[in-house]
Amino acid sequence: MKQDIDRILIARGAISDRVRSLGEDITKSLEDVEEQQIALVAVMTGSLIFVADLMRHLPMKIQIQLMSATSYIGKSTKTNNDPMLGKLPDVKDLHVLLVDDILDSGKTLTRIRNGLIEMEPKSIQSCVLLRKKLDSAMSVPCEHIGFDIEDEFVVGYGLDYDGYYRNFPDIGVISP
Ligand code: 5GP
Ligand code: MG
Repeated sequence: MKQDIDRILIARGAISDRVRSLGEDITKSLEDVEEQQIALVAVMTGSLIFVADLMRHLPMKIQIQLMSATSYIGKSTKTNNDPMLGKLPDVKDLHVLLVDDILDSGKTLTRIRNGLIEMEPKSIQSCVLLRKKLDSAMSVPCEHIGFDIEDEFVVGYGLDYDGYYRNFPDIGVISP
């Protein structure tokens, strides 16, 4: 696995520092939520490791709801025009924190967020670990962002290429 990684973009130490501070920011922004109860909607599979680390920095009562989204078909590094979404969890009257791995075209997060808003949650905010410096990604409503990165295909810390490299502990760029 390691020999396929061309270069490390964000090392595990920097990721863990940033995840901790994201947790603190999110906690502050949810201070006024009654009974401190939150529905955390995690978009699988890319946010698997991020959400597991992030939620341990959130001290409030959290219900975890997993949903699936697929943007790539097989060995591709271009995101699909139309992400395939699994069933959205019912978030009516809940305070929602939507968590995904990365904003690229922005279609996945936009579609999920709009779908959740239709269910009339009490509030909603989104958090992504990575955002590409693209107009499409920068224009998507998202309250919490871990890192802004250049437009390159990254793997590791949950992100895959053709299903692999999710277990790589740093975020890196694969060899061409
Ligand atoms: P979007 O809908 O914003 O184009 O894409 C979002 C989804 O595509 C992300 O949830 C992620 O699963 C996948 N994706 C986008 N960019 C990358 C990337 O650079 N690397 C990997 N591994 N997945 C990506
Ligand atoms: Mg994804």
